[in-house]
Order: sequence, then C-alpha cells, then structure tokens
Amino acid sequence: MTFPIIDSHIHLDWYDQEKREQILRDMDTYHVKGLLSVSSGFDSCRSNLQLSNEYKEVSMAAGFHPEQKLPAEGEIDQILSFIDQHHTRIAAIGEVGLPYYLRQEDSSLPLDAYKEILEAFIRKAVQYHKPVVLHAIYDDADVTCDLLEKYSVRKAHFHWFKGSTETLKRMVDKRYYISVTPDCLYKERTQQLIKRYPLELLMVETDGPWEFTSREWTHPKMIHQSINKICEIKQKGKKQVYNQLYDNTIRFYELSK
Ligand SMILES: [Zn+2]
Repeated sequence: MTFPIIDSHIHLDWYDQEKREQILRDMDTYHVKGLLSVSSGFDSCRSNLQLSNEYKEVSMAAGFHPEQKLPAEGEIDQILSFIDQHHTRIAAIGEVGLPYYLRQEDSSLPLDAYKEILEAFIRKAVQYHKPVVLHAIYDDADVTCDLLEKYSVRKAHFHWFKGSTETLKRMVDKRYYISVTPDCLYKERTQQLIKRYPLELLMVETDGPWEFTSREWTHPKMIHQSINKICEIKQKGKKQVYNQLYDNTIRFYELSK
C-alpha cells in the first residue's frame, strides 16, 4: 500500500522547465498530493502564483530568501503589496529568515537590515493570519524565536532546521514545526533531530532543486525514502507515520485534502 505525501518546502520556480514539468507529471505516480512552493523574491512570487493558478496541487508562499544580497530599493515593498493583493491565494509567508551561510562568507554583512526585513514579513503574517516558513539555523533560530514571540506568532515552520538542544526545546515548547530533507538518509545530525522532535510537529520536504546526491536530481518522490527512515528512527509503523506527517502539513498550511 502506498500512502500520500506532501513536499512541504520546494522551490518549484527554481527548476528548469523540463524537470518542473516532469515533477508535475509524476504527482500521481508517486502519490504526491501537494507541493508547497516557497518564494525567494518578487519575481519568484509571481512565478509561484502562476504555478499555483495552473496546478491545483501547488500551493505557494511569498517572501524573500535571506541567503542573498540585500534586495534592490523597493523590492520588499513590492513583495509586501503582492501579499496584500493576493493574500487569499497565499498559503504562507516565506521563505524568510536570516542569512547564516552568507554571513560565514562575509562577516561584515549588515545583519540588522536582514532582521528588519524578517520583522516586516512577520508583521505581514500576523496581519493575514498566515504561517511563516523560516530559514533560521543555529543562533539565528533564537533571534527568530524572539521575534516570533514578540508578535505572538503561533504557526512557524523552521525548514531544514539545525540548532542546539536548548533551541530545540524552546521550539517544541512553542509548538513550532520543523521539516527534514532527504539528508536524513545519511546525516547523523538530522537523524538525531528526528529522534528528539515530536512526530506531531514534524513535516517532510526536499528543498528542491537543492541536490542531495550526484546521481539523481532532487524530486519529491525522494520523500518516501525519508519517511522510511523516520519510521525506522521513531520505531513506528508506516501507516501511523505517513498519516501523521500528511495531516500535520494539511493542518498547518490549511491545505485542502
Ligand atoms: Zn528553501
């Protein structure tokens, strides 16, 4: 028996057309019931809106990816008014967060400017009661938790989370969600995370087109392997794990079944 899955974090607009079409064609074959396509900037928001209009299985989030140079003057305002205009078509605000990797390359990065952008998106999420999709790892996760608490945000999804045990505890207390990528098949750190994080706060994702192996391009079907691994780590049956992950995602993003 095969159970349905949802990729809770993918950049569908970042794939080349051929692969994107392949993914959309394969949905039934691999029981992929939904894709949450997150946006990285204004153009990306527009592409994802078009995709979500074209394909009923595609839902979109609108935001500005933090691992890039600060946007040109006016881009954040453009995205914020895009959200005002299309909030009924938007499932969430994201991908937003703080630039951890970029900061490793350039320590002079003006973090405060990124924080202001994140805060503007958090306020927008509160305004429209939308969940927030976060790229916030290690120390950035704590800074982000502070901001979420400041605005009493309850629905937060930390995608591909990496961080300390203390931060993890804080996130579980707040009932924030995390999602794991196919790196759970070989990364001890992700396996430990799965062990510690409650199943009822877990989702699965590919973050595609990010590549995990040199043999295969990233496709949502890989999530089946991730779920097998989660079953093994949690020592729980397939039916329970598949259903829980699926229901978590539907409920969190208020997607239709
Ligand atoms: Zn992403």
